[in-house]
Amino acid sequence: MTQADCIFCRIIAGELPSRMVHQDEVCVAFHDINPQAPVHILVVPREHVASLDEATFERRELLGHLLLTAARVANAEGLTRKSSGYRTVINTGAGVGQSVFHLHLHVLGGRPMSWPPG
Ligand code: 5GP
Ligand code: ZN
Repeated sequence: MTQADCIFCRIIAGELPSRMVHQDEVCVAFHDINPQAPVHILVVPREHVASLDEATFERRELLGHLLLTAARVANAEGLTRKSSGYRTVINTGAGVGQSVFHLHLHVLGGRPMSWPPG
């Protein structure tokens, strides 16, 4: 289901511009507009799912697809476990920084990162 007021649904529909790096039947990936690392890409399901909390057991294939796509996109950017590595993040809820309520996975890399995250 597409939501007219959702910025990521509008990007997926081609109504808003983005720097796409991957598209398939299940998800898309594009550069974050406000990158927090040299590589910062968002992997976004075509289906409007508000957050990980709304991702039910029936969506397990979709969730696996998103993770595998994240790895593929990172590798395509030159990021691998054996090079500088990369971090995948899903913020769930405004309290931890979710600002767009359409499920998405951040792929960040290209600089050293500390742990735990802030
Ligand atoms: P969240 O804070 O929900 O985990 O992540 C939302 C991300 O979407 C943020 O990193 C933000 O910079 C990015 N973002 C918000 N609006 C747009 C947009 O219009 N285009 C793109 N490419 N990224 C966006
Ligand atoms: Zn949406």
